[in-house]
Amino acid sequence: MSQAEYTTRGTVAVITLDNPPVNGLGHELRSGLVAGLDRAAADPAVKAVVLVGAGKAFSGGADIKEFNSPKAAAEPNLHTVIRVVEQSPKPVVAAIHAVAMGGGLELALGCHYRVAAAGAQIALPEVKLGILPGAGGTQRLPRAIGVEAALNMIVSGAPVPSEKLAKSGLFDQMIEGDLLAGAVAFAEKVADVRPLPLVRNRPAKHPSPEAFFGFARNTVKAVAKDYPAPAMCVDAVAAAVSKPFEEGLRVERGMFVELVQSSVSKALRHAFFAERAASKIPDVPEDTPTRPVKSAAVVGAGTMGGGIAMNFLNAGIPVTLLEVKQEALDKGVAVIRKNYEATAKKGRLTAAQVEERMGLLKPTLDYAALAQADIVVEAVFEDMAVKEKVFRKLDEVMKPGAILATNTSTLDVDEIAGFTRRPQDVIGTHFFSPANVMKLLEIVRGARTGKDVLATAMGLSKKLKKTGVVARVCDGFIGNRMVAAYLNQALLLVDEGALPQDVDKALEKWGWVMGPFRMSDLAGNDVGWYIRKRHYVEHPELRKQIIADKLCEAGRFGQKTGAGWYRYETGRRDAIPDPKVEEIILAGSRELGIARRKISAEEIVERCVYALVNEGARIVEEGIALRASDVDMVYLTGYGFPVFRGGPMHYADQVGLYNVMRAMARFAADPHGNAAFWKPAPLLARLAAEGKSFT
Ligand code: NAD
Repeated sequence: MSQAEYTTRGTVAVITLDNPPVNGLGHELRSGLVAGLDRAAADPAVKAVVLVGAGKAFSGGADIKEFNSPKAAAEPNLHTVIRVVEQSPKPVVAAIHAVAMGGGLELALGCHYRVAAAGAQIALPEVKLGILPGAGGTQRLPRAIGVEAALNMIVSGAPVPSEKLAKSGLFDQMIEGDLLAGAVAFAEKVADVRPLPLVRNRPAKHPSPEAFFGFARNTVKAVAKDYPAPAMCVDAVAAAVSKPFEEGLRVERGMFVELVQSSVSKALRHAFFAERAASKIPDVPEDTPTRPVKSAAVVGAGTMGGGIAMNFLNAGIPVTLLEVKQEALDKGVAVIRKNYEATAKKGRLTAAQVEERMGLLKPTLDYAALAQADIVVEAVFEDMAVKEKVFRKLDEVMKPGAILATNTSTLDVDEIAGFTRRPQDVIGTHFFSPANVMKLLEIVRGARTGKDVLATAMGLSKKLKKTGVVARVCDGFIGNRMVAAYLNQALLLVDEGALPQDVDKALEKWGWVMGPFRMSDLAGNDVGWYIRKRHYVEHPELRKQIIADKLCEAGRFGQKTGAGWYRYETGRRDAIPDPKVEEIILAGSRELGIARRKISAEEIVERCVYALVNEGARIVEEGIALRASDVDMVYLTGYGFPVFRGGPMHYADQVGLYNVMRAMARFAADPHGNAAFWKPAPLLARLAAEGKSFT
């Protein structure tokens, strides 16, 4: 069947866009549209045409299956289709329901008339992929709904419900009831009206364009300094006001081409596809049966347990929260309430919603109260003996078929599963702190985890509005195993001549949300100390990080002790450089026999980021991550890696793996360079030699 089915209703031709799931404007659909319009033009019995979407959308825009393929631009491209619509000798009416986004909205804007049902999401979301609407959207939308409203939509990419646009000039009529019947009736009514109205012929005016666009440019520059697209969106809309329509279209086209080739857009498009890819597990097909998750339990009401419980509560899933002592339980519950009340104060929750969520929370000291939960997430101390006790108990009390999940960050999930008689029900659900905020959920698949359990956990991540990424069992899984390598370099840089604030500044300037030393002070330096002590035994070939050790010996664990790599003033979180830390550092370098040198920001960034890349390559090769883009998702959603750089693996691809290898060889050759650390991962070496890339 054609993706653009042609039927008639009396004197009106109806062309139905039918390319599930959202009627993406792929080549076949575009060709079908042109054929349908030609047929309607040639048929004397037809007086008007209606375009309508089948299923869940009018059209979601470009067909993502065609992204990055020559088909995307093949004729008839969207420009051509829109020209054919505009030049139709008979009126063309777009009948919009559910979704009209991107190219879908641009197509509708080319039509002579638009009618819509309430509840449709109207948007030009291209900016989110680092581009701008390239089929006339920046020129026609301002003419349809006004310059300011259009600019807001184009720069933010945010959807606006159709009913809010009812009187904007975008729609000629809102239709209640049967959309197609209403659209056909409308088409009959306007069938003989001439000349045919076109959005392109309307004016795009603003009373004070210079002041308005100047203000818009400054605002956009301030909030999106690393992203070129929003500023170009402003310029394109400005062209709609200052230039004739066809010239404006040329401006838009030029900017579109420039943005498509920009590294930022490549990174954002990579992240878009990476997110989709992460939900696919090759040996767990999408139709794998899942288990119901209608109730949950959390063991441990500390930092993580409380945040994890909030995730379930936010999704409307009741939670039983267990602690060993009443005091710890009360404290945990109080923190959850405090968090909700803070959100309510900011106006993002009503008082009633706070009570509703708290009403779903059942604190307990009694394991029997957990028994009927569909899933239990353990978040007790990171100590195998404690985990063992908890899992043996859970095995005893939980109903058959309940999922037993652990939030461990480093321990062996298979060993934990071995404490139960149902290892197929055991899985790692590794949340990130603060668990109620961070998007990432690492889902750790044990050797014996059931496929239905894995599929359920993946589904749950969506329900909790998280990005689920599957990892296999190893020390630190994907994220923390890589962060160990990253922190290792950050610490070596300090041994060799940089100060913590130099390292943080360089990486933050490069785009990281937070540099490694501020991050360590936030997470607690004792955690890394504990891990390092183990690594010294396991990897005697690596240089000891005596400066970090000395810092911990001095009790400087970070924000929680008021001092770490920086000092902190009570009640404030600003990281203030501390001469005492500098003293420890200088003494440490002397002890190591290192003559400190000035280290450039470029070297700081390269060493820290390539450390991630090299470890990421090992993780992919060992099968700990399913694919390199999963590693990128972990870093983009859990660690504050600059989104506009697309994640460590994508970034390495952009630099070129050959160049990454050369830099690594240079670092290894340095007398203090820790050659063992820079041994290239075999996958990296192979891909670099073959001129290939990770993603
Ligand atoms: P926490 O010390 O803040 O909380 C642990 C809680 O578990 C405490 O309230 C304690 O009273 C309770 N507890 C201890 N033994 C118990 C038992 N037998 N039964 C019931 N409750 C018990 O620790 P946390 O930071 O929330 O970490 C919990 C787990 O999450 C650890 O495995 C940790 O590795 C992991 N994790 C932590 C982070 C983080 O950033 N803090 C991030 C990801 C994962």
